Amino acid sequence: MAIKRPKGTEDHLPAGSPKLTLDVSAQAHAWLVQTARGVLERAGAQRMDTPLFEEAELVKRGVGGSTDIVRKEMFTVYYFGDHGGYILRPEGTAGLVRAYLQNGLKQLPTPLKLWTHGPMFRAERQQRGRLRQFHQVDYEVLGSADALVDAEAIALMVQVVQALGLQGVRVKLGSIGDPEDREAYNEYLRGVFTPHLDALSEDSRDRLNRNPMRILDSKSEDDQALMARLGVRPMLDFLGQEARTHFEAVQRYLDTWDVAYDLDPSIVRGLDYYRRTAWELHHEGVGAKSALGGGGRYDGLAQELGSKEPVPGIGWAFGVERLLLALEAEGRALPAPEGPLLYVAALDEQNVGYAATVALGARRVGRAEFAYRALKPGTAFRDAERRGAHLVALIGSQEVEGDTLSIKNLVTGTQTSVHTRDLHTFLQGQLTQNPQEHA
Ligand code: AMP
Repeated sequence: MAIKRPKGTEDHLPAGSPKLTLDVSAQAHAWLVQTARGVLERAGAQRMDTPLFEEAELVKRGVGGSTDIVRKEMFTVYYFGDHGGYILRPEGTAGLVRAYLQNGLKQLPTPLKLWTHGPMFRAERQQRGRLRQFHQVDYEVLGSADALVDAEAIALMVQVVQALGLQGVRVKLGSIGDPEDREAYNEYLRGVFTPHLDALSEDSRDRLNRNPMRILDSKSEDDQALMARLGVRPMLDFLGQEARTHFEAVQRYLDTWDVAYDLDPSIVRGLDYYRRTAWELHHEGVGAKSALGGGGRYDGLAQELGSKEPVPGIGWAFGVERLLLALEAEGRALPAPEGPLLYVAALDEQNVGYAATVALGARRVGRAEFAYRALKPGTAFRDAERRGAHLVALIGSQEVEGDTLSIKNLVTGTQTSVHTRDLHTFLQGQLTQNPQEHA
């Protein structure tokens, strides 16, 4: 029986594949990451990549032992003779903060802005936009607790969305306060839910012991109905003075920059190291329960990972597949495949090698392909067109002897005779006329 790819994974396909859609197009993925990179690097973020697998302990501490990710969704990595203590990373933040601490990046100018992109792994039940191997673009800022950093991080997410040309995105903004605010809120929640234990789902009863705030995150409709019936007060009501001032400053900056957002008291991040600002980006085309991305401040994380000194931090992650689904929902077409600038074909077998030499030389200027056997002119033009070529050079004995190339422009239909020593200059001229190609 033919072997298929594992459940919850996708192949990223080349242009022209049958049934190609944006979310499985390798070209669309690359374009998206490139677009995000442009926005982030203009803001001073530097790329940093970390391993795809990390110590299980890092993931447990970084993501939290009480989360579904750690309890149910971890991919464990084994290899011969190994203790089995590695985990395929389910998100990027813990690895980036570990690498920041381990590599002494504190010495770099503060705040340090980092970005990364790559696959993440969670053994979730597969649904539309919910995969076991998915991809994120991550942005993290370390070393500053300033509300201006929070506002800039959110604004950058919105800029990425705009650079992609997405319209229907909403920012949901909340704050989860400082640890003591959260303790007060958890106390309140215990008081509210304890008399209704029987009505809570099993998961939520467990959360009531470990971390009552996470009940607000429950996917159970009965839990959600119970909360509505009890009129549970939001975390925002419990913000202390400092967290409130910080949250107001974030909003003021966003207002100044005309970054639209809705206050959303339902946003919770249950882990102890999260502080203050938390937000998500949503899009109708992807579904209310599936955020395009989200972020939050995590000032307590570095110490959780063993740093003696606190390192304030904030970060966000976009789900690349979710962004592509949103673009698809808005009717965005696949990017046109980029064809070669020059396609070279020999008309006789003895000149096939010469045609290849011309194409290899042309690659110093732009993309160039050649035919691997002699072709009749009609076949050569058809092949060039299928590959989306811009210019075609057919090579016969006359061209070889005269050291010239007869180059046809498939867009304008014009034919030009070019001496081989002038080929680079000619191709460069073509690129200037068509700057969008070969960008
Ligand atoms: P999180 O790290 O859970 O805050 O997720 C950040 C973003 O990654 C989400 O908003 C989604 O866009 C994306 N994401 C998370 N889990 C998955 C998944 N299983 N499949 C696809 N995208 C995901």
